[in-house]
Amino acid sequence: MFTQELLLKQRTEFLHALCACGSAQHLERVLDILLAKGELGWEDYQSIQVPGRTLYSNARQLLDLVYTKGADSCGIFIAAVQQVLPEAQRGGLSFSERPSSLEDQENPPSASAEALVAQRPSLVYKLQGCIDGVLEALVDSGQFSSDECDEVQLPVHTPSQQARRLLDHVGSKGEAAAAVVLQFIQQRKELQAQVSQKKPTPTKEFLKYKKKLRSSVSAQSCFLSTYGGTNHTALDDIFTEVQLELPHTGAGVHRALGLEDIVGPVGTVNEDADTVLVSGEAGSGKSTLLQKLQLLWAQGAALQDFVLLFPFSCRRLNSEDRELSVQELLFEHCCWPDREQEEIFQFILDNPHCILFTFDGLDELKQSFFDEHRLCCPTQRAPVNLLLFNLIQGSLLKGVRKVVTSRPEAVGPGLKKHLCKEVLLKGFSPSSIDCFVRRHQRDADVAVKVLESLHANTALLGLCHSPVLCCIVSQCHRELLGCGEGSPQTITDVYVMILQHFFQRHSTAKRTIGGWLQENLRTVLRLGQLAFKGIATTCYIFSDTDLEIYGVTEKDVCMSFLIQSKDMSLGHSKHYEFLHVTMQCFFAALFIVLSSHHDGSTILKLFELQDMMDTGLSSTCFKACLPSSNKEENVSEERATAAETPNLQITATFVSGLLSQRLQKLWFHCCSSAVVEKKSRQVERCVSKGMQKHFRSIPRPVQGEKKSMHAMPGFVWLIKCIYEMQESRIAKDVTSKLQVDHLKLTYCNIGPVECTALTYVLQHLKKPVGLQLDNNSVGDVGVEQLLPCMHICNSLYLRNNNITDEGIHKLITKVIQCDNFQKIALFNNRLTDACTQHMSHLLTNKQNFLSLRLGNNNITAEGAKQLAVGLKQNHSLQFLGLWGNKIEDAGAEAIASALESSTSLLWLSLVGNGVGDAGARALSAVIRNCVSLEELWLTENCITRTGVEYLIKAIKQNSHVKSVWLKNNNLSLEEVEEMKQIEPKLIF
Ligand code: ADP
Repeated sequence: MFTQELLLKQRTEFLHALCACGSAQHLERVLDILLAKGELGWEDYQSIQVPGRTLYSNARQLLDLVYTKGADSCGIFIAAVQQVLPEAQRGGLSFSERPSSLEDQENPPSASAEALVAQRPSLVYKLQGCIDGVLEALVDSGQFSSDECDEVQLPVHTPSQQARRLLDHVGSKGEAAAAVVLQFIQQRKELQAQVSQKKPTPTKEFLKYKKKLRSSVSAQSCFLSTYGGTNHTALDDIFTEVQLELPHTGAGVHRALGLEDIVGPVGTVNEDADTVLVSGEAGSGKSTLLQKLQLLWAQGAALQDFVLLFPFSCRRLNSEDRELSVQELLFEHCCWPDREQEEIFQFILDNPHCILFTFDGLDELKQSFFDEHRLCCPTQRAPVNLLLFNLIQGSLLKGVRKVVTSRPEAVGPGLKKHLCKEVLLKGFSPSSIDCFVRRHQRDADVAVKVLESLHANTALLGLCHSPVLCCIVSQCHRELLGCGEGSPQTITDVYVMILQHFFQRHSTAKRTIGGWLQENLRTVLRLGQLAFKGIATTCYIFSDTDLEIYGVTEKDVCMSFLIQSKDMSLGHSKHYEFLHVTMQCFFAALFIVLSSHHDGSTILKLFELQDMMDTGLSSTCFKACLPSSNKEENVSEERATAAETPNLQITATFVSGLLSQRLQKLWFHCCSSAVVEKKSRQVERCVSKGMQKHFRSIPRPVQGEKKSMHAMPGFVWLIKCIYEMQESRIAKDVTSKLQVDHLKLTYCNIGPVECTALTYVLQHLKKPVGLQLDNNSVGDVGVEQLLPCMHICNSLYLRNNNITDEGIHKLITKVIQCDNFQKIALFNNRLTDACTQHMSHLLTNKQNFLSLRLGNNNITAEGAKQLAVGLKQNHSLQFLGLWGNKIEDAGAEAIASALESSTSLLWLSLVGNGVGDAGARALSAVIRNCVSLEELWLTENCITRTGVEYLIKAIKQNSHVKSVWLKNNNLSLEEVEEMKQIEPKLIF
């Protein structure tokens, strides 16, 4: 879609995105970029930033102005918004497939005043920490009066606004003032470089403390609690590489991220912030990742720029009731200095850039992040959550690097704006699953068998991308290998398997199905009640007294579902936590299913979550289900914790699975079948009602457009609940009510597991849909999971999904047989020339195929030649996109020769492919002979005047062609002007 159209169509969304949270910062940052790129002049800028006018009015003015300036300005505006907006605030905005480049100009301006404008975005950032100093330099050089200084530094403005006012003032003064600012910045940079080269010189006491901290961190991190129960595995023996990604596409990072990249500069979006967020689903390996980082530091193997590392667990910080100062927090919760505490703390204050803090599980903190209460004094005492929030956002100990982990749902825009970057943790890759199983199984033969059985059951293989599930599956290898055809399909199956594994390990008698459960029912109920209470009150660590209240016995503890908590600050009394938070949710679900206390109302409340979430009621409503003795303490006024909704959702997913027809027989030994069936019907009703609510929210289509549903949070969760129930009747019933042409599930955290569930439901659709799964983590295993629903897809959008040639091979083998399938978009995956033979096969064998988009992959001239074989045979293709590959002249020639006689092609893009004059010459034959072609995109290639002349000649002979895009080729400004005059269809 053209950039102007894109802007117009999403005007409301752009407005909201720019003005979100009522802060002007996004708008201002976009304006900085547009000024720097020369898209806005000084007068334009003043017409937008009218003092006293509302933020929305200013943003509207900007949108109007950019629109009237034309497609190029719109393109740069869209690219600027994309750069400025954190992913979570993009709210379904779609950006151009061919984003305009925001790279700096090749020839930097020589005049200072021009440089000040061209470097505006980075100067705004650099000036924030030194406004006083620059103003002083400007006053000293006679450029500024003290009144002007006061005006810049009006306290109502944020530091970045002050920096902009300073730049605006300096801009109006001219060259000399601009030179003072640039010189100041340069000198400051040199000074900082000298300072940072100077390593701090620690004292003897400090070195002793460092040693003590190292050994404490090492002791805390070197073992991993495993699902084998009491024994511990050395982290170094089991740690397996996980997939780390940056949230924004086109971030320019084309290699896999390593552990050290978490604290390194890659992917930084806000250089002023010190906090890195690692976000991932429950069980994706966040805690283990932090543990590994800590261990590497303690072993001296990595992160050695940091002299001290202080690890914190938010789960444990929850139990800190006292008010503490930062100093007390560090020393009491991590490592106590035996002497010279003040001196050591002073070192931390003086050298913040050498210090690293890690906070695991921010989502488990009793309060969600908020930013209203600022603390600046490191010796001031405050509640621990306040200390934490102020450390994260930088009011306290600015400069100290912080790495925080959390589940994605739990991170709101309030926190995001304080992040220097976000790193997404996507669990194991397929090769990591293999590697983990081989490490986990001491017996190599068993490892091979486990892997064979995983590869024979792709649904289970999909589940194993989650390290926690992979670990359980490998642990339960006996059960897995013994169950033959009936091997686990769902997450609930995997947890039932470990339940059986742990119980049977403690029993010598041979058990019938369900017998082991009956024998251990009391244990299940006691642990279940403890888990349920914890979920409803955000409690993950349980004291002896808690265990006593719920009658949990020592024998129950021995079953290994609970492990002893390693909290240093809890003193000598014993504390326990479930092996993993998902295990706690599973026990809570067992309790809901098996306990006679719970009737349908608990299930109803659990599933009404989505509504409650919107009204902020979830905790109070759910807590009302607790046994009466707990109610008063639970129904508190506190802000809901961020983990609450995800945990209740996981619990609900388990309840759906446990009450499925397949598993019901297990519970008949333990409670009345009528009650179980009643609860099961209740779940079915809730899920169906929940889905209908989503369907009702689908807007009416605009005339001439397709009816489209953009999935809201909660939709994928309900789909997963249906999958857990494993009843096609329910899936059929639900899909019969879904009537859309296009289903959009972008940025929905869809991995292989979600693909399995989606397919389970969508395969029953009656009418073909477009399935848009851009910007997820589908991967090759996910693609394989999607195959059974391809017959009902007419288009599949899988942009930015980590898919390789292998996944494409499987996909194409399937879709060739699907009559409805006509379009595929694979922008920004990991495709190489090896996929093009399959594409070619598709084109040859599918004469109703319309659109193939392969932008931003790794296809070279060889791949293009392969593709050309299929293109020549095909008579239906209308859109072919190869933006951002490397097909060069030879590839362009092959494609051109194949498309020369096409009668269907409307749109061809070879943007950014290293195409030169030879390619242009070949493409001119397509322009001349292909009667259907309307648009040809050749932006960002290396075509010179000679090549353009071929194109011009050809355009004269074909009146159908509407435009040929040639911006950023090897042409001088004069040549561009001249060519424009000769042929207006050329767009530069
Ligand atoms: P999260 O913090 O995201 O909920 P955890 O780090 O607690 O997940 O991981 C759950 C379990 O999965 C761990 O106890 C461990 O057994 C296993 N695990 C996670 N990451 C890895 C890894 N990189 N290598 C080996 N095992 C892992």
